[in-house]
Amino acid sequence: MDERVDPGACIFCKIAAGEAPAHIVHEDERTLTFMDIFPVADGHTLVIPKAHGTNLLTVADADLAHVIVRSRAVAAAIRRVLDPDGIGVFQLNGAAAGQTVFHYHMHLIPRNQGDSLQIHSRTPGDPERLAETASKLAAALDG
Ligand code: 5GP
Ligand code: ZN
Repeated sequence: MDERVDPGACIFCKIAAGEAPAHIVHEDERTLTFMDIFPVADGHTLVIPKAHGTNLLTVADADLAHVIVRSRAVAAAIRRVLDPDGIGVFQLNGAAAGQTVFHYHMHLIPRNQGDSLQIHSRTPGDPERLAETASKLAAALDG
């Protein structure tokens, strides 16, 4: 399950380094928060440690702590902006568990009653909508 990725080829490392685009919600010394490009729901957000670690079992303790604390703040922003019935906060470890990007990350997915519990989508989000939601979440984090 410890799929190894050359950090030089890792899309989330590239986003963290500013070498690949993303709709950024928040950045601090250790974490980056941005919109999932294939959202399963409006507001589907990812929180990553900037440092590469493949999954829960290999990520550094301090990064793990920062990601969960940041995830809670982002969940609160999602509640303020989108007011969903619930918010899924989860992560996957290993391809067999459904992980597709092997750089540890937390999903935050707004869910409403009756929604499917889908965790992946192949439909890219509308870039304007992603940008708009990112900026609303960023503002809600500040407030
Ligand atoms: P996993 O399946 O590893 O838990 O989740 C990976 C997530 O990353 C998926 O939800 C997928 O849509 C998202 N993703 C994959 N590539 C990119 C990308 O280049 N940019 C962004 N923003 N999200 C991505
Ligand atoms: Zn990486």
